[in-house]
Amino acid sequence: MIDLSVRDIKYLAGVGPQRADLLEKELGIRSFKDLLYYFPYKYVDRSRIYTINEIDGNMPYIQLRGEVLSFDFQGEGAKRRLVGHFSDGTGVIDLVWFQGLKFVTNRYKAHEEYLVFGKPTVFGQRVSIVHPDLDKVDEPTLSSLGLRPYYNTTERMKRSMLTSNAVEKLMGNLFQALHNEPLDETLSPALLDRYHLMPLADALYHIHFPKNPELLRKAQYRLKFEELFYIQLNILRYTKERRFKYRGIVFNKVGEVFNSFYSQHLPFPLTGAQKRVIKEMRRDMGSGRQMNRLLQGDVGSGKTLVALMTMLIALDNGYQACMMAPTEILATQHYETLCRFLQGMNVRVELLTGSIKGKRREGILRDLLTGDVHILIGTHAVIEDTVHFSSLGLVVIDEQHRFGVAQRAKLWAKNTCPPHVLVMTATPIPRTLAMTLYGDLDVSVIDELPPGRKPVKTVHQFDNRRPSLYAFLRTQMQEGRQVYIVYPLIQESEKMDIKNLEEGYLHICEAFPEYKVSKVHGKMKPAEKEEEMQRFLRNETQLMVATTVIEVGVNVPNASVMVIENAERFGLSQLHQLRGRVGRGADQSYCVLVTGYKLTEDTRRRIEIMVQTNDGFEIAEADLKLRGPGDLEGTQQSGIAFDLKIADIARDGQLLQLVRGIAEQLLDEDPNAERPENAVVWKHLLEMRKEQVNWSVIS
Ligand code: ADP
Ligand code: MG
Repeated sequence: MIDLSVRDIKYLAGVGPQRADLLEKELGIRSFKDLLYYFPYKYVDRSRIYTINEIDGNMPYIQLRGEVLSFDFQGEGAKRRLVGHFSDGTGVIDLVWFQGLKFVTNRYKAHEEYLVFGKPTVFGQRVSIVHPDLDKVDEPTLSSLGLRPYYNTTERMKRSMLTSNAVEKLMGNLFQALHNEPLDETLSPALLDRYHLMPLADALYHIHFPKNPELLRKAQYRLKFEELFYIQLNILRYTKERRFKYRGIVFNKVGEVFNSFYSQHLPFPLTGAQKRVIKEMRRDMGSGRQMNRLLQGDVGSGKTLVALMTMLIALDNGYQACMMAPTEILATQHYETLCRFLQGMNVRVELLTGSIKGKRREGILRDLLTGDVHILIGTHAVIEDTVHFSSLGLVVIDEQHRFGVAQRAKLWAKNTCPPHVLVMTATPIPRTLAMTLYGDLDVSVIDELPPGRKPVKTVHQFDNRRPSLYAFLRTQMQEGRQVYIVYPLIQESEKMDIKNLEEGYLHICEAFPEYKVSKVHGKMKPAEKEEEMQRFLRNETQLMVATTVIEVGVNVPNASVMVIENAERFGLSQLHQLRGRVGRGADQSYCVLVTGYKLTEDTRRRIEIMVQTNDGFEIAEADLKLRGPGDLEGTQQSGIAFDLKIADIARDGQLLQLVRGIAEQLLDEDPNAERPENAVVWKHLLEMRKEQVNWSVIS
């Protein structure tokens, strides 16, 4: 059998060095195997041919059959386009190309018969299809009679004519190249048989070229099964190994440090929920088993304080603690917060990030080794190999979705008695997702906000009602409050983002000449960003115009309004996170979601949910349901980064439960991975672990 993961995609018919480069840069496809596992994101039934006189304004993708009467060029400059006047005898429509004009005119001829495929738009009397696919009628593509696969491609790929259509052709070449080479099956015969699963080779073929919906469904089921099964098996195996191999450090006392903090330095009483989770963790850490706990709590629920008090328990037992945050800004803020809480106590806290270098860094590293540094705060760099503790007893990981089970496993392996691990997240994670992401963790929940907080009032406003919005902002600022105005990041074009922000900034400066305005975005140097945020925090500026960089990391209790421009561009979780930036003081706060007038159904739902509820869990569930399969952008936006190729956690919850059960049973029956009938499974798990060294890499 041949290892497809080492066969360079460059050598596939139709690829070559240039396209190989594009495929790698744009999609991360390097090998035959990568391409094979690049699945379509949708399918369109091509078995039906429509006629032009049937077309109405609401049609999805359709297929027509006819000829181009003539081509002509229209427009100038950026608007220059090629128009093909296409007829099937029942009418004439325009086929329009803005890019690759030369390619199109060389390739397609007038008065030849084509199958035309695309989404029609109707404008007055005119019907057009922009960038249609054309196929000669006498050479149908592989799948033209069944369902046609659609592959995600990027702008850069499209510009080089590497369209979905072209990817489909490459896929055809790939299957031709594989023709006589059997693919390694990845599930055992017993599993295939028992759960009626399609063999891998068939499933891979039918996922790309399904002859009918039934075959497609079977192929999808098989591949989803496999994907979720191995994730669960992986997680459960790690958990078992850990329980079996490692004992936990025993923190058997609560002593001087914790007690004096609790009685003399705590600025406010703990909430009931905070007390409860601290107790849960004390019990864990005293049990003799290593703690691996996920602490969920909505924005503003007071997780930092809980983390601090947990770390103090470590100190009381003669151990050090460290806390990791995903960004420097956040690490710095944690550092400052902890220093403030611990003022007057004999606890040494240090900050270690990439920008702390030279003598200072050496000093910190040295004092860590002697145990003089008690608590270390930093980015993920704090657990790199160059950082040595004298006795690390507890690691706290904040807001870190990407710190997956493999990374945590590295921590366990640091010595025979690995530190306890506490993972904190403000994105409430629905159960199914938590199982996939954090299947090996015990969960604690802070389900109560500190007293005196008024829930943030959320309103939706169309962007043509700006004058009344501004009048409202002015009254808030006259009362001494501060305002955030957030613009979305449009990832396609960073230049556009900055332009949006700059325009917004100028606009706001003009609209509020009597107030000072800050501006913060991701392209600024950390120090500049920090300085600007500090100015806002000190109330030297009253308005903060920013991109989503402020999503995590700023805590300005005096800010009472969060305006989110182009709210339709944000995912639900992100809107919720942004809203969490206000409502941190005792006064009433507001969140204003500004959108254009025309909204899609999905956007309308999202806005509705935001207006209706402040409950992070409700929002997370709704978010997961609203998101369609394979909506990677949504996934990334919400901060839940998890590379599922085909399964969809929102929809495949049942399958996830099923495979988790199967994985558990397999581990029970064959704990040492030695039964011959499971050999296929163990071998594949091992390969996956090797391949996925970068699985859920910290970013
Ligand atoms: P998050 O859970 O989002 O990390 P933080 O830990 O940043 O929340 O806490 C939000 C704010 O609430 C902070 O200013 C913190 O000092 C304050 N806070 C935390 N616990 C309490 C409490 N029990 N009573 C009052 N305020 C609290
Ligand atoms: Mg926090």
